[in-house]
Amino acid sequence: MKILIVGGGGREHALAWKCAQSPRVRQVFVAPGNAGTALEPNISNVDIAADDINALLEFAEKEDVELTVIGPEGPLVAGIVDRFAAANRPCFGPTRAAARLEGSKAFTKEFLRRYGIPTASYATFTAADFDADYVRAQRVPLVVKADGLAAGKGVIICDTHESAITTATAILGGSFGAAGNTIVIEEFLKGEEVSFIVVAHDQQVIPLATSQDHKRRDDGDSGPNTGGMGAYSPAPIVTPALHARIMREVIRPTLRGLAGDGNPYTGFLYAGLMIGDDGVPKVLEFNCRFGDPETQPILMRLKSDLVALCEAAHNGTLDGFDVQWDSRAALGVVMAAGGYPDAYRKGDTIDGLEAAARLPGKVFHAGTRFDGSRVVTAGGRVLCTVGLGATVGAAQQQAYALVDAIHWNLVQYRRDIGYRAIARERA
Ligand code: AMP
Repeated sequence: MKILIVGGGGREHALAWKCAQSPRVRQVFVAPGNAGTALEPNISNVDIAADDINALLEFAEKEDVELTVIGPEGPLVAGIVDRFAAANRPCFGPTRAAARLEGSKAFTKEFLRRYGIPTASYATFTAADFDADYVRAQRVPLVVKADGLAAGKGVIICDTHESAITTATAILGGSFGAAGNTIVIEEFLKGEEVSFIVVAHDQQVIPLATSQDHKRRDDGDSGPNTGGMGAYSPAPIVTPALHARIMREVIRPTLRGLAGDGNPYTGFLYAGLMIGDDGVPKVLEFNCRFGDPETQPILMRLKSDLVALCEAAHNGTLDGFDVQWDSRAALGVVMAAGGYPDAYRKGDTIDGLEAAARLPGKVFHAGTRFDGSRVVTAGGRVLCTVGLGATVGAAQQQAYALVDAIHWNLVQYRRDIGYRAIARERA
């Protein structure tokens, strides 16, 4: 069969690489893909942008693609699954209505409140009803969020009332375009963040291996927020008791609520959770797709056939599907372009990829492209090097051996990915 993966980042490289291992798959297409997907056996890039739904559907029809898997949120929120369904072309992911869980933070907060699913307390505003006195009456820090998709930049943590008011006014004034026509202002939650990713079809659900990512750019989880500087799986903080609690208090009620509202969910569902000192898992956000960079270490550990899993979820035959995981830990380190997450360099030649390919582990590409025969940087997050090991610590060593083999001008990466898990292992 032929598979189409939509997207061009590290997540899509990992999805394509894993799908290509399925014995039933003859060819995997990636639209638009990157230099890493171009280099893989049985994988070809297709020059179609991830948000060009018409062209993607036309391509899937022409090639008789039997399963399309969507990486990024943009096309999901825009309704790609509905469009493919109308043409009877299998496309794995949530419908536009279900993808609002990521597409609108105000929608999600109201949904969580209505179903009693734990989350930070909040209020929503538009420019017409913004109330600075409400802000002044809250405890700081406060978190100000643009309602819509803002490429991971629409969440600002404000330490003072005045900065929260300035930030809210700027977003409502258009600093994130229409994504900021509505804002959510919410309570700042303390604790440790966990990514909890499941694959679901209505109320059938299989939790994937646990993972944790590092959002801040610099060591010690300091510096600006990014799309993610590294991730590992499993996350030792998710004990069996916490796992059961997240399923019971967050995942199942969410799937039940969506179905009850007439928007049953199919696809990968990513809950970003804050685990406070009281142990309560509170929802920070939902993503309607697999995480990046969590996908890379999670799929390194997946022993089952990913195509069969996606098909079972698409067709509603998840119950009884047995997902097998490598018992080893996996850890991914993101190598980013100089300047990221602000304006960053592009076009720098990446050296050492051949040497890295001879080492254990796997280098997934994100923002890369070919310039003649050279692989050059083409995005903020450029590569994710993933190591495997008996412990998170051993996986970390393998991942950094890959990092050490690769170089380009002004490359930046963190040196401490996984430090919390490794401290837990040592204790
Ligand atoms: P979101 O896109 O809503 O997950 O926000 C991005 C990041 O901002 C999260 O991964 C957290 O690190 C942080 N964040 C969001 N909401 C809160 C909150 N209420 N309290 C503390 N940190 C938050």
